[in-house]
Amino acid sequence: LKVLLAAPRGFCAGVRRAIEAVEEALRVHGAPVYVRRAIVHNLAVVRALEAKGALFVEEVEAVPQGAVLVLSAHGVARSVVEAGQARALRMVDAICPLVGKVHREVVRHHREGRHVVLIGHQGHPEIEGILGQVPDGAATVVADLAGVEAVAAEGPLAYAVQTTFSVDEAGLLIARLEERFPGLSAPQGSDICYATTNRQAAVREIAPRVDAMIVVGESFSSNARRLCEVAAAQGCGAVQLAADADGVDWAALAGGRVVGVTAAASTPESSVVSVLEALRSRFDVRVEEVGDGIESASFRPVRMAS
Ligand code: SF4
Repeated sequence: LKVLLAAPRGFCAGVRRAIEAVEEALRVHGAPVYVRRAIVHNLAVVRALEAKGALFVEEVEAVPQGAVLVLSAHGVARSVVEAGQARALRMVDAICPLVGKVHREVVRHHREGRHVVLIGHQGHPEIEGILGQVPDGAATVVADLAGVEAVAAEGPLAYAVQTTFSVDEAGLLIARLEERFPGLSAPQGSDICYATTNRQAAVREIAPRVDAMIVVGESFSSNARRLCEVAAAQGCGAVQLAADADGVDWAALAGGRVVGVTAAASTPESSVVSVLEALRSRFDVRVEEVGDGIESASFRPVRMAS
């Protein structure tokens, strides 16, 4: 079995930084350190941090007064920060700087009188966090062409994009928005982050060459699901999403000679290794890495609460 292994794959700089923020908070403040929701969308990561003393909560109200609370890489609404301040929490904001860029853009558009069309998936934590930077009604979330057609805002418009959205789909939606609304303000540089762009590009290269594709990641990870969609859009008819080796549908690989493997930006390399080892235990495997390879992006560490 030939395995085409995507490069890059797995952890991005923002995910690494958020995980290190929890570890550093535990080192500086000692356990327990509270974390609002999944720090990144991966259960193995969450379990590993729990084992070190992190306590995951859904809402700020579940955190005792004055405790240390880490906010996730997806970013949060202003109301969440205010609720934390009201409880005198010592907050560590692990928002990815590239999500922070989108927050600042949306705030600027609102301040300058533009309604924002936000290309993204309603209900995703990143979208909730972005919407929570501006008053209700200041932005409209669209996820597809029907959503773009339904945009009815009058007056100046701008658009912003969820960092993990599909590059190809966003391109279609932006083209239609620009057709409908000449003068639409665009972000400075793409809002879709380098990690999403690079992982989708590697999948686009691999998918046409394989009989099946395994995306290692969680079903609740936006960027993992987008990788599946990109592979399917390239004509790969047997795409599956598996959190690790235990989640692989082996029957779907039967008869295949070439399998692609990639991993979402929130997936640890250990999960990819578990899938590769399981493949080796069943097949005579030859691995070839495909893609542009190593990424050099890194961000300054998160500032700790005192
Ligand atoms: S996927 Fe992109 S935006 Fe999200 S944490 Fe990683 S680098 Fe940041």
